[in-house]
Amino acid sequence: ASEANSSSTGDGVEMPEIKFTKLFINGCFVDAVSGETFETRDPRTGEVIANIAAGNMEDVDLAVIAARKAFDHGKWPRMSGFERGRIMMKYADLIDQHAEELAALECLDAGKLFLLNKILDVPTASNMVRYYAGAADKIHGETLKMSGEFQGYTLREPIGVVGHIIPWNFPTIIFFFKVAPALAAGCTMIVKPAEQTPLTALYYAHLAKQAGIPDGVLNVVTGFGHTAGAAITAHMDVDKVSFTGSTEVGRLVMEAAARSNLKSVSLELGGKSPVIIFDDADVDMAVDLARRAIFFNKAWMGEICVAGSRVYVQEGIYDEFVRKIAESSKNWIIGDPFDAHVHQGPQVDKKQFEKVLKYIDHGQREGATILTGGKPCGEKGFYIEPTIFTDVKDDMLIAKDEIFGPVMSLMKFKTIEEAIERANNTRYGLAAGIVTKDLNIANRVSRSIRAGIIWINCYFAFDDDCPFGGYKMSGFGRDGGMHALEKYLHVKSVVTPIYGSPW
Ligand code: NAD
Repeated sequence: ASEANSSSTGDGVEMPEIKFTKLFINGCFVDAVSGETFETRDPRTGEVIANIAAGNMEDVDLAVIAARKAFDHGKWPRMSGFERGRIMMKYADLIDQHAEELAALECLDAGKLFLLNKILDVPTASNMVRYYAGAADKIHGETLKMSGEFQGYTLREPIGVVGHIIPWNFPTIIFFFKVAPALAAGCTMIVKPAEQTPLTALYYAHLAKQAGIPDGVLNVVTGFGHTAGAAITAHMDVDKVSFTGSTEVGRLVMEAAARSNLKSVSLELGGKSPVIIFDDADVDMAVDLARRAIFFNKAWMGEICVAGSRVYVQEGIYDEFVRKIAESSKNWIIGDPFDAHVHQGPQVDKKQFEKVLKYIDHGQREGATILTGGKPCGEKGFYIEPTIFTDVKDDMLIAKDEIFGPVMSLMKFKTIEEAIERANNTRYGLAAGIVTKDLNIANRVSRSIRAGIIWINCYFAFDDDCPFGGYKMSGFGRDGGMHALEKYLHVKSVVTPIYGSPW
């Protein structure tokens, strides 16, 4: 056990007890068949928090058998939507009742700010469960007039056994982005949390059982991507995979689906989102928005798929913007994420920490200039200064690749046309920000950018009813809103003759 496991933090937050470390299959916590485990580490110190069951193909098989049985013969897909919704409401209440402990677990495992987990991530999760609970009894079909002697109707049926594969940057929110609509639809499922952050997913499995979600409906298999994750994507009895993670792994997920049973796939992948700031913007407001758009999460450290990592500023305000953003970065406080005064915690793990530093080094070698930051900080753990580059060219690696860390590339532009073209000059298409007071510019640019969500004079504004997903290599399919529910439903047409059999 690490020193992190002493009973309370410096800021008086109760250190969470690690209660769940095993796979959750068919309503029970069990060891992996192989007996193997892996370490999950505290990103503040790099020390081991707990050993977690390392699921692989055999364990995924057991979880799929349980989920298949619960789908083919169990109550969950057959009970009324109202009843499913009622149980989900109870689930949401239980999440809220354990918010403090869940927020601390997430802080310990992922390095995300405790306070933000408590007031944002965990309540967002419980409210998402409520949102889809409310939808569970409103899944309707259509009547079909058809022509001549026939009429018909459509049924919307749960798609079946779903595999959810989730990343480490929002272990709670992405868990429920996927699980909540799939539960409402009447599906059964296997969730594979990221190997860096398995702790809260296991806790959510425990609460699901307490809420009355039947055994086998929600299974959690912890483990690595190339073993447990790959076993889900290649499984012949999984009907759908809902994946959030990197574009590279998204490609592997599609390949595995194509080679196995052609299961339905939806992918929420990486991004390199632009923030475009026009001359008429209030510069102070634009500085604040651009800062939040990249340094948000954990918070403000760039580990977010929609991070506004490319900031285009129009030439008339460029110099003032650069001066003010450099000035504002002096107030950043980097440190222990349990501390309520801290703005930024550590990167999630050593690998990510080293990857971000490599990009910073590469940016300097390519000729970009460091305006602020650029170095690791602290004696232990994975802390990096928020880093802003100027003199960035569109073809530099730091302007093209998703760094997934606190690194902003600042660029100057002249005209609207140029801004649109350069903003779209990316293989990604997840999000974009526009800062202007001119409605015509806002309308024109928002329609011209090929991305799944456009924020005008705001950033990171989400809610349960807001669909979210990618264009281009940022993936396809939507989480959030009623669009997410559709991902977990089949449409079946049922046709009958109107006046008895015509044959
Ligand atoms: P990752 O792709 O490495 O891993 C994501 C998940 O996939 C993990 O659970 C991992 O174990 C699993 N995995 C890895 N290899 C696999 C394989 N061969 N088969 C099946 N599963 C496998 O991504 P990450 O590093 O955990 O997360 C960061 C990435 O996620 C970034 O690219 C980020 O943009 C993206 N992301 C996207 C969204 C979105 O909604 N679009 C949200 C959050 C994160």
